[in-house]
Amino acid sequence: MTTLSVFDVRTGGETDWINITGEVQKIVAASGAREGICVVFVPHTTAAVTINENADPDVPRDVNLALNAISPDRREFHHSEGNSAAHTKTSLVGPSITLIVTGGRLLLGTWQGIWFNEYDGPRTRKVHVRVMGE
Ligand code: ZN
Repeated sequence: MTTLSVFDVRTGGETDWINITGEVQKIVAASGAREGICVVFVPHTTAAVTINENADPDVPRDVNLALNAISPDRREFHHSEGNSAAHTKTSLVGPSITLIVTGGRLLLGTWQGIWFNEYDGPRTRKVHVRVMGE
């Protein structure tokens, strides 16, 4: 079977990482798929999705410190909206991830979680989840 779901994420700051593992897992369970794949897609140009450590909150903090060092605000940017640093971080991290579904659950490592990455918040964002399997 194939299912397509969407849910909202309310972000709390200009940069904000929100753990969405539980929501995605619920969608996989409700799909009825035992074996298959799950695609998580973020339809935004200043927000992204990634898999990273879900245990130590210093990890998202440190990754954002590194991303800010790679893509700081620059006077040379032309984009009139003034958020080119956020657009750049979004391209570095990416708009989607693909996960393996097995035994009716997401296959994730012990320390892995799915993180919605906000780079130009606070805003209300969308996350789309496609589950394909049998
Ligand atoms: Zn922009």
